[in-house]
Amino acid sequence: MTIDENHWLKEARRDVLPGGAVMNTRCFLVMHFTSGASAQSSVDFWKSPDAQGACAHVIIDRDGSIIQCRPFNRTCGHAGKSTWKGLSGLNACSIGIELANAGDDEKLAKRWSKLPLVQASHKNGGPAQSWEAYSEAQLVACTAVSQALVKRYNLDDVVGHDDIAPKRKNDPGPAFPMQALREACGFSGMP
Ligand SMILES: [Zn+2]
Repeated sequence: MTIDENHWLKEARRDVLPGGAVMNTRCFLVMHFTSGASAQSSVDFWKSPDAQGACAHVIIDRDGSIIQCRPFNRTCGHAGKSTWKGLSGLNACSIGIELANAGDDEKLAKRWSKLPLVQASHKNGGPAQSWEAYSEAQLVACTAVSQALVKRYNLDDVVGHDDIAPKRKNDPGPAFPMQALREACGFSGMP
């Protein structure tokens, strides 16, 4: 996986979302699920006024294909109100990766995905429920992109949206192998 001098992944398809602010310092990598259908459907939504600026730098589909929407030196609206390691408002200093995944929306999972459901309760609380599994291809691509980003930008941590905004957000949730991703990126344990 290669990141070029203009902060684009060479291996990703580009579907450019203009905008964002200049981001010269990047601290964290934040993982998300879309609660959505295909990756392209989420990108199409991000282009609509209804999205109100929501978007991420990279989105990975269930088949492992990668779309990059904005270069890594500009901000995206993926974190919202958030805090981590003494910093807040992490859109200003973090890179966001979205994974096409229905999360805990079982109806959505059954309609858009052939992947199994995982029964689990969230680490931040709540009852046991069904979560769409992530595909192997998706996790392989996610790991490769994450490793390249951590190395290139010397990132301080790899976290979930549910770590930086635990009261508001439950993504990427219990079906996501956060510890394995962190270890692949040189960190240990859970966030
Ligand atoms: Zn999120």
